[in-house]
Amino acid sequence: MAEATGLTSADGTTRPTIFAEMTALAQATNAVNLGQGFPDSDGPEWIREAAVEAIRTGANQYPPGRGIPELRSSIAEHQLRHYGIVLDPEREVLVTAGATEAIAASILALAGPGDEVVTLEPFYDSHAATIAMAGASHVTVPLVPDTSGFRLDSEALDAAVTERTRVILVNTPHNPTGTVLSADELGIIASAARRVDAVVVTDEVYEHLTFDGRTHTPPATLPGMAERTLTISSSGKTFSLTGWKIGWVTGPAELIEAVTAIKQFLTYTGGAPFQPAIARALTEGDADIAALRESLAQRRDLLVEGLRASGFEVVVPGGTYFVCADATPFLSPDVPDGAAFARALPGLAGIACVPVSAFCRDGSPAADALSSWVRFTFVKEEATLLRAIERLGDLRAG
Ligand code: GLN
Repeated sequence: MAEATGLTSADGTTRPTIFAEMTALAQATNAVNLGQGFPDSDGPEWIREAAVEAIRTGANQYPPGRGIPELRSSIAEHQLRHYGIVLDPEREVLVTAGATEAIAASILALAGPGDEVVTLEPFYDSHAATIAMAGASHVTVPLVPDTSGFRLDSEALDAAVTERTRVILVNTPHNPTGTVLSADELGIIASAARRVDAVVVTDEVYEHLTFDGRTHTPPATLPGMAERTLTISSSGKTFSLTGWKIGWVTGPAELIEAVTAIKQFLTYTGGAPFQPAIARALTEGDADIAALRESLAQRRDLLVEGLRASGFEVVVPGGTYFVCADATPFLSPDVPDGAAFARALPGLAGIACVPVSAFCRDGSPAADALSSWVRFTFVKEEATLLRAIERLGDLRAG
């Protein structure tokens, strides 16, 4: 069973995720860790204090399986205030153990053997793993780098979405490319979903982390989409609290019911003291979100400039924690591709990154096209980025 999902190595041991592998390598070599995307400073103190207070005042036993009413209401209010999405907090909101559980429960609820799930490629690792766990087939549509970012191959999307497609799993803003899907791209995805009556499941965890005046559009807001979309997000990225694992899924009551049926046997419930803290953060935290977005845009610029100065070709991301860079100038017979480069970089220059091929299927056209690309995160303190940029100076092309 485990072997069938490809989640273990040939010898039966657990294969660590690429993020865990690169973080371990960074720690072992004392490298600046620009691999795994997590902030090196914690989120706002008042939100952390709210969780401490919740522990002190007794929020320590199982919360309700769907999440505490206070948090479900503030998620519904957040969706209304930011996007005009109207939700019934009783029936159309489910709190989960991070977006990862929401995605897993949604895919397990909707797709099984014989069904196809379409994602963009590159794709976030848990998306592929979850589709495998559901026993469904994974069909991918490439994002192609150009001057305006990694863009959707719309012809490939149209060809990929067929009567066999049960779910289109859309991630915007997109990890690892930083693409914020445009209104046109979202329209193409929405009309493909309507054409074959597929459900759209979204991963919008970087919804607030968009730059240069770009705004995030939830696919559920497109015409005819609310009734066929499960919208997923979480508090981890928005409030720099990635270890709290408070996420949610919202959408039509009957779909949420199906996801709840799965979720109750995954974690059942969790994060009792974090739930009230995030309920407050979602209602009172807009200034903190704006400050993070602004500082993150500056840190993106700093890293993009540093990478370019040392010889990388870079696609400037419109959102997220990440920038992708082409390492071609640094490849050699000993370091033939991005995967080898990512494993060598801690030794060469004391920096860790992640190969983009880890977000692709072995041998796919996208994997070939992006074989020399690597992903760096800029969600680190400016001093950390400056140290990395100084070390990039030690790198010499070819
Ligand atoms: N989302 C983080 C990233 O893309 C990693 C989370 C994890 O380690 N699974 O870097």
